Amino acid sequence: MSIIEMSWWLTEKVVPTAITRYCKNCGRTVEFKDSLIRRHNSNGKNIFRFAIYKCEKDHTWNRKLSIYKAYTEHAVVREEKLFIKENKIEIMDLDSLCREEVNQVNITIENSVGDVRLDKLLAERLMGWSRSQIVRKIKEGLIQVNHKDCKPSQKIGTKDLIVIMIT
Ligand SMILES: [Zn+2]
Repeated sequence: MSIIEMSWWLTEKVVPTAITRYCKNCGRTVEFKDSLIRRHNSNGKNIFRFAIYKCEKDHTWNRKLSIYKAYTEHAVVREEKLFIKENKIEIMDLDSLCREEVNQVNITIENSVGDVRLDKLLAERLMGWSRSQIVRKIKEGLIQVNHKDCKPSQKIGTKDLIVIMIT
């Protein structure tokens, strides 16, 4: 069982947030920018989700975003590898995930401009499944939002978690 965690930015242009704080390596208060990379660490029962921030000299600071329960004991949590850069929408290729023996994909919506329909969003960004296949999987409970069954017309916004089972 392998799970991939990823983040999607639904805004057209990503503006990384910045935080001013003390950098131990620089020895002074500097501006840390969000690298848009997310890291997950697991201690078996819980998964800790961090945003990687960097100062101008590339020193990193892990900002804790959330803690959530590991739903499967044998889940392998990988680092996120997909995000949107500079107006470019990256498409998720389900066939290649299947070949890597990924069973589940968890997608956290980092940022959105207004709500968007679940089936439409997935049809735009998933390669390998048609919109009608996506609708069927939603109805079969193989695609959930915030770990609950939902409708294809469900509106997706910031902080929602889309869980996709790849069988
Ligand atoms: Zn620094």
